[in-house]
Amino acid sequence: MREISRETIIQEVKRLCMEANYILPCDVSQALQKAYINEDSKLSQQTLSILNENAKMAKQTFSPICQDTGMVCVFVEIGQDVHVNGSLAEAIHEGVRQGYAEGYLRKSVVDDPMFDRVNTKDNTPAIIHYDIVAGDHLKIVVAPKGFGSENMSQVKMLKPSDGIQGVKDFVMKVVNDAGPNACPPMVIGVGIGGSFDHVTYLAKKAMLRDIGSHHQDIRYHTLEDELLTKINQTGIGPAGYGGKTTALSLNIETYPTHIAGMPVAVSICCHVARHKEVIL
Ligand code: SF4
Repeated sequence: MREISRETIIQEVKRLCMEANYILPCDVSQALQKAYINEDSKLSQQTLSILNENAKMAKQTFSPICQDTGMVCVFVEIGQDVHVNGSLAEAIHEGVRQGYAEGYLRKSVVDDPMFDRVNTKDNTPAIIHYDIVAGDHLKIVVAPKGFGSENMSQVKMLKPSDGIQGVKDFVMKVVNDAGPNACPPMVIGVGIGGSFDHVTYLAKKAMLRDIGSHHQDIRYHTLEDELLTKINQTGIGPAGYGGKTTALSLNIETYPTHIAGMPVAVSICCHVARHKEVIL
């Protein structure tokens, strides 16, 4: 059994919260630069140029890429042969608490979702997903999520008879509903299968996959390409000002499902697709 200390987890989560908010992942940054070259109109090029410059300045000055520094989603992959001395969940929340305080990051979490809505003042709690795997490693992915784009995500319980066309129509509806509100270019994750709860998890996981990566099944790979092309033909464009770049990527994750259903979830992220990870 391998021991990982609570303090190590706190320090790593703290660092990841700050880095995620200051430094865009390389694949996102490269995709934004490529999009600039690909655009024809002056307005869309100018918009992308501002987004690229903003990301560059954030990295150089250790300041947040966006004022909405998000609610923190944490994906934990924990080996069965790992033991954490202390509460893993508490260590993660403490890391978020310290990261948002020391990093001067906006605190955006309210305690009660409907009645009180009082700011917790430390951006906790985080939302934590656990995956128990074989081995003795601990992988932590920290993904702060802004709610301008989160509010544009949707889930639908399609029937099997809705077929592939039903999935395509739903994805396009979600993107068109989102329009400029999701601060495009978007990064889109699509979950297909599982259950009502699991499909949204799949969509979020898909959203975190590297830009340019593909589903291993060629049929879903082809669907990813087809949907991305169609989305970029909507003309929504960077910041909604029009153009060829409405989304930088669309990734699909799938899971077996019940004979009577075909759940689909579309997780929308803006161009500030933040995530950083560590393997301990
Ligand atoms: S959607 Fe993204 S870019 Fe827009 S305000 Fe939220 S975090 Fe910032």
